[in-house]
Amino acid sequence: MGEVGAGGRRGVHSVRPLQRFSGFGLLRHAFRGHRDWRAQWRAPEPRAAYDAVIVGGGGHGLGAAYYLAKEHGMRNIAVLERGWLGGGNTGRNTAIIRSNYLCEESEAIYEHALTLWEGLSRDLNYNVMFSQRGVLMLAHSVHEVGISKRHVFANRLAGIDSEWLTPAEAKAFCPPLRIDGGLRYPVLGAALQRRAGIARHDAVAWGYARAADALGVDIIQNCEVTAIRRDTRGAVTAVETTRGTIRAARIGVSAAGHTSVVMAMAGLRIPIESYPLQALVSEPVKPVFPCVVMSNTIHAYISQSDKGELVIGAGTDAYVSYSQRGALWVTTEALAAITELFPIFRRLRMLRAWGGIVDVTRDRSPILGKTPVKGLYVNCGWGTGGFKATPGAAHLLAWTIAKDEPHPINAPFSLERFRDGRMIDEAAAAGVAH
Ligand SMILES: Cc1cc2nc3c(=O)[nH]c(=O)nc-3n(C[C@H](O)[C@H](O)[C@H](O)COP(=O)(O)OP(=O)(O)OC[C@H]3O[C@@H](n4cnc5c(N)ncnc54)[C@H](O)[C@@H]3O)c2cc1C
Repeated sequence: MGEVGAGGRRGVHSVRPLQRFSGFGLLRHAFRGHRDWRAQWRAPEPRAAYDAVIVGGGGHGLGAAYYLAKEHGMRNIAVLERGWLGGGNTGRNTAIIRSNYLCEESEAIYEHALTLWEGLSRDLNYNVMFSQRGVLMLAHSVHEVGISKRHVFANRLAGIDSEWLTPAEAKAFCPPLRIDGGLRYPVLGAALQRRAGIARHDAVAWGYARAADALGVDIIQNCEVTAIRRDTRGAVTAVETTRGTIRAARIGVSAAGHTSVVMAMAGLRIPIESYPLQALVSEPVKPVFPCVVMSNTIHAYISQSDKGELVIGAGTDAYVSYSQRGALWVTTEALAAITELFPIFRRLRMLRAWGGIVDVTRDRSPILGKTPVKGLYVNCGWGTGGFKATPGAAHLLAWTIAKDEPHPINAPFSLERFRDGRMIDEAAAAGVAH
């Protein structure tokens, strides 16, 4: 059994005040030889019952637990993670954050997230290293110039910062970029969102975990959900896990690539397909790359981490799989594209490559809302681009669970849209949506 609340009442957790980080705090710990740091979150045994259980300890799941506790006063919550925190796509992505999507619904949900990113480090008292260094999206054909400009104009109408750059302006913004006519896919211009950027993905999971734990949330790792129990009227009652049965009347599933597997436990089929998506990093070099560059046509995207590694995104495999590794030709093609656009990187060695399982919907937009099963809520379908959504998705999932109805921002992203044909088609709009 986990902790019992201050009043001794079962079901109410004692709140362990946040160990706040500050410059003075660091100095104090340094003088004490860094011996008295405490663990950033507890490792409690699962309790027999919670008011709500979140399946999946990625950024979205941990964030949802945090907002449930912070904004909706629900403290008797557990996050169940089958592996380690952030070990799914949260710790495997290329960390690109932007909100310049095309459809109005997407603009609203990604901008909601971007606004939360802008205050996240302060809110969590944890440096998530959000760096608004700008994301440049290249256009390589007349057709793509038209599409990109349409994005820019649509974004501006929605109040989202977005601008169109000529090739020379794009090069001035990103000096390593090649813009001469010798390119197989010449750069004809670029869309720029200056408020966009990157963050440190592990820190996002850890920051949310630490803050949620301080509000009494139980974060339980190495705890795989293996079944979902329902009563005679069909409502959820409990999850079976590798660490025993846990009762809960509200279950939020935020399991990314494994959503179909988890939802099938409640008898639901979810319209997503799961693919391996790959990324790789180079050996570290001195700061040389000032922004993020994406090219959908030749399918490559790149930024430089604070450690100096070039972080390079590749594509998905052409077939569905849960293998968490991808085909070699995918990374090879991405590198061919990168070295053509940025010849200065031709002699760099690659350090690591990995894959994550992304959950892709037909319209490349997420599913975030209630399900036909009472007490069961789903957040999935973010596919290749859900890191940027982390605070927004978490915030909206918490709202939906707490109020048993979607927030106006996530209402259009219902499961029913596939039945009713109300797609939010970012597939045609973005092609790839990192
Ligand atoms: C290579 C790569 C590059 C990417 N690049 C970008 C990018 O640049 N920008 C961007 O916005 N997005 C990007 N993404 C997508 C982004 O990473 C995801 O959309 C996002 O991180 C999803 O977060 P999450 O918390 O929902 O999922 P996850 O972090 O995957 O968390 C889900 C968790 O559920 C757990 N789980 C699964 N089944 C069970 C079970 N039965 N019981 C208990 N736990 C379970 C998993 O172990 C996992 O930890 C990329 C993804 C990959 C793979």
